Amino acid sequence: MSRRKDAGRREPIGEQEARAKVAAARRVVVKVGSSLLMDPNTGISYANSRPWCAAIVRQLEAGRQVLLVSSGAVAQGTASLGWSRPPADLPNMQAAAAVGQMGLVGAYAAVFAEHGRRTALVLLTHEDVAERQRYLNARSTLTRLLELGVVPIINENDTVATDEIRFGDNDTLAALVASLLSAEALVLLTDVDGLHRQDPRLNAAAERVAYAEAADPALDQCCGRGGALGRGGMVTKVAAARTAGRSGAHTIIADGSQPGVLERIFRGERVGTCLAADVEPLVARKRWIAGQPRPKGDLVLDAGAAAAVRKRGVSLLPVGVVAVRGEFRRGEVVRCVTEDGEAVAQGLVNYASAEVAKIKGIASAEIGGRLGYAVEPELVHRDNLVVI
Ligand code: GLU
Repeated sequence: MSRRKDAGRREPIGEQEARAKVAAARRVVVKVGSSLLMDPNTGISYANSRPWCAAIVRQLEAGRQVLLVSSGAVAQGTASLGWSRPPADLPNMQAAAAVGQMGLVGAYAAVFAEHGRRTALVLLTHEDVAERQRYLNARSTLTRLLELGVVPIINENDTVATDEIRFGDNDTLAALVASLLSAEALVLLTDVDGLHRQDPRLNAAAERVAYAEAADPALDQCCGRGGALGRGGMVTKVAAARTAGRSGAHTIIADGSQPGVLERIFRGERVGTCLAADVEPLVARKRWIAGQPRPKGDLVLDAGAAAAVRKRGVSLLPVGVVAVRGEFRRGEVVRCVTEDGEAVAQGLVNYASAEVAKIKGIASAEIGGRLGYAVEPELVHRDNLVVI
């Protein structure tokens, strides 16, 4: 694959380094396709799910945070309703998803409980990651679930998602979850052992792409029209790897039915296809925040808070704010300025301007008493704050 250099991107890394970063990743998203979960006649198969649920538990025990993106609601609903094939129309598809999601989460809850692990169901639509306020809510809830040691089982909210607000496929959903949570790796488990230069189902000698940069345009040839891999869903997988790569996650596409596949991936072995990110997650996130459109308002910081944000990269607490200007809602972009009007930082704010007016200057522990509720202890979390 050709190497390229773009302004603002770091030098490409090689396969060994990318795979080592996957092995060292602390927060990862694993996406499993329906084919790995389902028995075509009976629906969700506990026998199929047990081995890789156990593999996920071993990763949790090793100190990794794992978010599981699982397909299968429509397939499970189709089986439960006794239909011979998945519905093509939206109302029936949504009804099948609503029925099937029950079986899906029931199976995950039972299988993870065998290991003493709790699970949580998180259903998302495109708007939940695109709309600012919901974006912060989704990020903060998922982060808390991970801190609690719970395994979030994420799927698209097929029941309410109309065509305009659908992700459409769980590869895209998984990539957006990786970027929402600044994950370092995205693992797409499917029924093919990665990207190939020819269709592996037609040509047993098809060459596997072991490694490429996700942004490499030459990858399109492996999954374009002519490349039969498009039919195997590789187009959405490469697109997902590019989305994940722009926010710093390296992607592995691998055959989920191979025994021990997750362990091998997380040992950094040459499994499937590795598509490397072009930035580090934190750099990507800060760049994204810095590149947001015009801030909606200003938070005026006292000298101590301004110095701490500048030098130590800490979160901004209400106690350090002396005034608020402009009108904004939770999740919007604000500027942090000194009392002399000098810009210090830019970030996504956790409280609306009217709330900030009430809580500025107070200790975080007093937010609840002042507002009647407390969303977060910080006005702007350090992960959402970039010094300018
Ligand atoms: N959200 C759909 C389901 O659970 C699956 C979409 C996909 O397979 O990518 O059935």
